[in-house]
Amino acid sequence: MIVLASEGGEVGIGAAVEVLRSGGTALDAVEAATRLVEADSSNHTVGVGGLPNLLGEVELDASIMDGRTLATGAVGALRGFRHPITVARRVMEELPHVLLVGEGAARFAREIGAEEAELLTPEARQRWQEWLGENVPEEVRRAWPPRELAPWARLTAQPRLPRGTVNVLAQDRAGHLAVAVSTSGWALKYPGRLGDSPIVGAGNYCDDRYGAAACTGVGEWTIRCGTARAIVLYMKLGYSIEAACEEAARELAALDRSSIQGGVNILALDRWGKPYAVTTRDRPPTYVLWEEGMQAPEERQAQRIAMD
Ligand code: ASP
Repeated sequence: MIVLASEGGEVGIGAAVEVLRSGGTALDAVEAATRLVEADSSNHTVGVGGLPNLLGEVELDASIMDGRTLATGAVGALRGFRHPITVARRVMEELPHVLLVGEGAARFAREIGAEEAELLTPEARQRWQEWLGENVPEEVRRAWPPRELAPWARLTAQPRLPRGTVNVLAQDRAGHLAVAVSTSGWALKYPGRLGDSPIVGAGNYCDDRYGAAACTGVGEWTIRCGTARAIVLYMKLGYSIEAACEEAARELAALDRSSIQGGVNILALDRWGKPYAVTTRDRPPTYVLWEEGMQAPEERQAQRIAMD
């Protein structure tokens, strides 16, 4: 049994451990952990408290994948609900589809009785207003939003605001794998923008036979490379988990990344329950890990892979 979670996941990993210890499934464990991160309003990159889009609306993305069957569900640009990960799971379980976005996702969330919530906290609103104050001339701000948002969206590619996502990966007692990913996405994004978190194959992938992977960071890059699926496919082809992640990082490095500032972090798990974490950032992020035999989750640091 093992659980690993990206930065911000500290608040949720204990719940996942509880589920696994009591004989629950990896799927239940990753959902339980992610729900706690989504409810943590001090985290400005996931759930309540997440930073809004350019219009000041918080749009949430999430996906969940079950390694037993490759079943998956995802929601994108979902507004007004506290737990997008649970809505994603219900998409997986109750619809013939895998991805709902925007109004349709909200409609389904209402239909299943998902908990509604005001997602924009006073602090997140203030960060949005401060950004507008620092970057947008007063005459444009007075009539906000302008007809053309694209120039302002381009400015947000040089981030001065927090970015992030939570990835939770687990293997249960029976050896099954699951991954959950949840985010408020790129701070001050163009409305309707989806990153990699709800795109299965890019920000999330999981297959009991080979392993699991999930990403945080610039989703525009991992979508192009199909990063999470690539890692699992490399493991299928016999690569070690380390070699699989490094090959995926090389693919990202080969992109023209000049228009966006940022990096990518990858968390992976092979079918034997071995974890690995890599980053292309200069300052490797930490992640939290719990494995059978540990009293409590421990903090670890990702390995750095240079992109240049
Ligand atoms: N991967 C997320 C996205 O592209 C954002 C992040 O992790 O910084 O939406």
